[in-house]
Amino acid sequence: MSGSKPMISVCWLRRDLRLHDNAALFHALKSGFPVLPVFIFDDAILNQLDDKADKRVDLIYQMLENIQQKLQATEGSIRIFHGSVKQAFDILINEYAVQKVFCNRDYEPYALQRDAEIRYFLNAKNIEFHSYKDQIIFEWNEVLKADGTPYTVFTPFSKIWKKHLSEIQIPAYPSEKHLNNILKSDKKASFPKLEEIGFHKTGIQFHEAKPEIYTIENYHLTRDIPSLETGTTGMSLHLRFGTLSVRELVKIASISNETWLNELIWREFFMSILMHFPHVANGAFKKQYEAIEWRNNEDEFQRWCNGTTGFPIVDAGMRQLNETGLMHNRVRMITASFLVKDLLVDWRWGEAYFASKLLDYDLSANNGNWQWAAGCGCDAAPYFRILNPSEQTKRYDPELKYIRRWVPEINEFGYPAPMVDHSMARERTLKAFKEGLNNI
Ligand SMILES: Cc1cc2nc3c(=O)[nH]c(=O)nc-3n(C[C@H](O)[C@H](O)[C@H](O)COP(=O)(O)OP(=O)(O)OC[C@H]3O[C@@H](n4cnc5c(N)ncnc54)[C@H](O)[C@@H]3O)c2cc1C
Repeated sequence: MSGSKPMISVCWLRRDLRLHDNAALFHALKSGFPVLPVFIFDDAILNQLDDKADKRVDLIYQMLENIQQKLQATEGSIRIFHGSVKQAFDILINEYAVQKVFCNRDYEPYALQRDAEIRYFLNAKNIEFHSYKDQIIFEWNEVLKADGTPYTVFTPFSKIWKKHLSEIQIPAYPSEKHLNNILKSDKKASFPKLEEIGFHKTGIQFHEAKPEIYTIENYHLTRDIPSLETGTTGMSLHLRFGTLSVRELVKIASISNETWLNELIWREFFMSILMHFPHVANGAFKKQYEAIEWRNNEDEFQRWCNGTTGFPIVDAGMRQLNETGLMHNRVRMITASFLVKDLLVDWRWGEAYFASKLLDYDLSANNGNWQWAAGCGCDAAPYFRILNPSEQTKRYDPELKYIRRWVPEINEFGYPAPMVDHSMARERTLKAFKEGLNNI
């Protein structure tokens, strides 16, 4: 006790909503003080969400309920706050003699700034602030060229990434073995209702998951077939919120399937790009692409959003996104290419729409992939590579299994005719890109 207040460590959970193999939690539990796990529903983030039935908030809420339930065995509890991060720490410091705060590093621009401010605030009060690498294997400054500059092309990045991996033992942080050091029940704290945070239930159900070994072993054969439920692993959501540890997944990937390992490396590649080139969050990686003259037709954009373009594979993807918050990767590529190249809509419009809907939304992955599709990113597909929706359908959904699931009325009267002629649109885009790039 310090005065009348109990001395504790705080473990501030963010994108790491799990009690096992969690670096920050592990270090907190070994800090010598009982640990209070904390989550803050941060108004700075929540206020940007217009839809109060946001599936992501509902999911996070359920993930926290899951943690709460597991903590019962320790007679402990997670403390949930709603408001600003600073307010939450003010309350904590008022109630406890907080000695140390532990968290895992988050690399998005807002998070970096928030953490820098909180570190400063806590240090001024003589409270230690410790942050750890947890959501990735190698941080932005660990995979660099020999001259210390960042890679901007995936293949050499992935080669060095794999070389580094072969030289280390992937660490484990068995936090689950030390849960007896969780602070015993905090009677003052009740678990708030979702409505008290300003959001509603959406019907979505969170389930813990592990990747299927069968899927991983066959990944290179099945990953491009959108009709296959288990053609890809469905781990993006778990990686996004940290309900699984990336270390577990990379250990499996490195002995099971190199194609799948590469996907996990793409994730880290785009995170590294965002750290080194933060301008990508708002604009093209290749700045000369800012000169493209977009058509940006609002009605056409709306038809793309609603899945009524008359291109079945595009409509199927957008309807899957609107209904489930997810979309198969191959179809994400097709829908993105269609918006940018067939409709000549600024890729940032599509990026923002995906950001508002995707359960696995991640700034670096979403941005990197949109820039890739638009041709303006690092290591992007060249702008003249334009996906043809019909050819893509023949190749990846020849029996229309995926399409029929999401667009059952495809052959019925009332399903719209294609909203644009693909060949004409292709030429129009090539011209717009050529002109834009030549005008610099
Ligand atoms: C336009 C567009 C936007 C995208 N936006 C996001 C996003 O916001 N968040 C997101 O996690 N992924 C995004 N992706 C990448 C990819 O579509 C998803 O990661 C994948 O569909 C998730 O399904 P899965 O978990 O079954 O992946 P799997 O195919 O089983 O891959 C395993 C994991 O590797 C990572 N991964 C796979 N492909 C990519 C990729 N191209 N870039 C980065 N990481 C990858 C994911 O974490 C994924 O869970 C986007 C792709 C496109 C083309």
